Amino acid sequence: MSLHEEKKPTDFIRTIIEQDIARNLNNGQVVTRFPPEPNGTLHIGHAKSICLNFGIARQYPNSRCHLRFDDTNPEKEEIAYIEAIKEDVRWLGFDWGDHLYFASDYFERLYQLAEVLIQKGKAYVCSLSADEMRSYRGTLTEPGRESPYRNRTVEENLTLFRAMRAGDYPDGAHTLRAKIDMASPNINMRDPTLYRIRRVAHHQTKDRWCIYPTYDYTHCISDAIEQITHSLCTLEFEDHRPLYDWILDELHEELPCHPQQIEFSRLELEFTVMSKRILTQLVTGHHVSGWDDPRLPTIAGLRRRGFTPASIRNFCRLIGITKAPNYVEMALLENCLREDLEINAPRAMAVLDPLRVVLENLPDNHLEDITVANHPQNPNLGSRIIPLTREIFIERDDFDENPPKGFKRLIPGGEVRLRNAYVIRCRAIIRDPQTQVITTLMCEVDKDTLNKAPEGRKVKGVIHWVSAQRHYKAQVRLYDRLFTVPQPADPKSGGSFLDHLNPDSLKILENCPVEESLAHCQPGQAVQFERLGYFSPDIRDSKPNQPVFNRSVSLRDSWAKVENKR
Ligand code: ATP
Ligand code: MG
Repeated sequence: MSLHEEKKPTDFIRTIIEQDIARNLNNGQVVTRFPPEPNGTLHIGHAKSICLNFGIARQYPNSRCHLRFDDTNPEKEEIAYIEAIKEDVRWLGFDWGDHLYFASDYFERLYQLAEVLIQKGKAYVCSLSADEMRSYRGTLTEPGRESPYRNRTVEENLTLFRAMRAGDYPDGAHTLRAKIDMASPNINMRDPTLYRIRRVAHHQTKDRWCIYPTYDYTHCISDAIEQITHSLCTLEFEDHRPLYDWILDELHEELPCHPQQIEFSRLELEFTVMSKRILTQLVTGHHVSGWDDPRLPTIAGLRRRGFTPASIRNFCRLIGITKAPNYVEMALLENCLREDLEINAPRAMAVLDPLRVVLENLPDNHLEDITVANHPQNPNLGSRIIPLTREIFIERDDFDENPPKGFKRLIPGGEVRLRNAYVIRCRAIIRDPQTQVITTLMCEVDKDTLNKAPEGRKVKGVIHWVSAQRHYKAQVRLYDRLFTVPQPADPKSGGSFLDHLNPDSLKILENCPVEESLAHCQPGQAVQFERLGYFSPDIRDSKPNQPVFNRSVSLRDSWAKVENKR
C-alpha cells in the first residue's frame, strides 16, 4: 500500500453505499463485480473500474468483488484474453478469491428464465430480418412500429424458441424479443432483442449452444444470480437501466435479488485511445508492436513501459469517480509514476549520446572504485561501486564550444563536476580531421575534489558519466505520445485516428553506455538514470548483459521539452 492509499477515497457511489450499509440494506453487505468482456486486453480505463469495484470491496467490512467474464459474444472472444485480464487484475493488486465467474456459466439458467418470460407473455419470437427490425425500431423522434410477430401465442413462441435452441434455423431467422413498448421514448425499451441465433462455438461452452443471449439480458441476470448489491457501470449504460430493472422486475419471483445499477463517467485520456475496437485496429494493423506496446494505454503496455501498480492505483484515486465526462491529461498519469519512483527507484548513470573524455592526468590503467549511495534520501536502497577510469563518456550536449549565456555545464577551459566524483577542467578538443566533429575532450581531474568543494572557486554544473572502459552497452527506447492531437478518435479532430499517429512516437538508441550495475536489472525494476528520467528493463527484450531499457517517464519536463533537450 502506498502512502496515498491509506487515505480512504470518497465519492458519490461510496456515499450511497455507506447510506445503504447504515440502513442495513442487504444485511449491511456490499458485493460488487468487475465484468470485462474477453475481447481484448484491459486498458487504464478498466483500471478505473477495477480500482472502484475491488477498492470498495476492500474498504467495507463484509464485502467482496467478483471477477466475471461477460462472455456472450463468442466470435470476438479468446481464451488468451481471459488469462491476460486475470493477470492484469492481479498485477494491479486485487484478488477475487473464489469469486471467478463466467456469464456463460449461466446460459442454461438464462435460457430457462427466457422461457419464463415467454410464459408470462413478456417475450416473443420475432421473425423480422435484421434490416426490417431496424426500420421498425423508429428513431429518437419517431416511435417504433410493432412487429407483425408480436402477438404470437405463448405456445407458438415456446415451440419456436425451443426449435431455435435445437438448431432448426439458420442465423438470423428469428430472435427472441422482450415485449415492452415500441412507443417508448427510450429506444432500449422498444422490444429489445434477448436472444440471437449464432451457429458458432463458444470458448467455454464449446458447441453446446447455437443461440446466445444479448448483453443487456445477460448482465442484469448474472448480477442477480451472484447477489451483487451495487452494479457499477459507465454512463453509456444509463439508458439501459430501465431495461435492467424491467427484466429483474419481471423475473422477481424466480430471482428475488435486484442489484442497484449506478453509473459513473468513463476515463478518457488525452493523446491516446481507449476503446478496445480502436486498440485492436492499432494492434492488428501493426501500427504498434502488440497489446503490450509501451505506447499503448493498456495495462500490459503500461507495465512494460515501467508503470507500477501503485502509480496506477494512485492515478485512479486522484481522478476520482463522478458523473461528469472528462478528458484527463497524460501529465497526471505520468506524475503519479514520478511520485512513486522518486521515492522508490535506485539511481544509476547512463549516457544516451556519448562523447569520449580522456582524463589526461590519470594513468592509463587507473581504476578507482567509488562507493555511491543508490538513493540520495533513502539509505535502505544501499550503495554500489562505480569504477572511475582514465577514459569516460559524458553526454554530448553537456559540452558546448560556444555556450549560450547561463550554460552551466562543460565549456572549453571551464570546469564541471562529474556526478559522485571529481571536478574536471576541459583543456583541449580533438576533432575528426575529415568531418570536424568533436570526438574527444582532453580534461584534467582536480584530485582534491572527490565529493568536496574545490578550493577558492565555485563549480556549479554537475554532469553524469560512465566509464568508457568498464560499462555495458544498452539499447534505450524513448517514447513520445502515440498521437499528435489530444482526442484522436473524436470526429472533431478530422479524418481517422490513423491520420493522427505520431511518426516519432518511438526513438531507439543503440549502444548506450550504462554503468555495470545495470547489466542485471530485473524486469519491472525501475531505475532513475540521473538527469535523464526513469527507465525500466524491457520485459520481453532485455537479456542478461544485453539490457534494453524503456524510458518510463522523463524527470519533470513534459515529453516535448525533453525531446528538445536531446
Ligand atoms: P471498450 O469500449 O474499451 O471496449 P468496454 O466497456 O466495452 O470498453 P468491457 O470489457 O465491457 O469494456 O468493460 C468492463 C468494465 O470496465 C465495464 O464495467 C466498463 O464500464 C468498464 N470500463 C470500460 N472502459 C472504461 C473506461 N474508459 N473508464 C471506466 N470504466 C471503463
Ligand atoms: Mg463492452
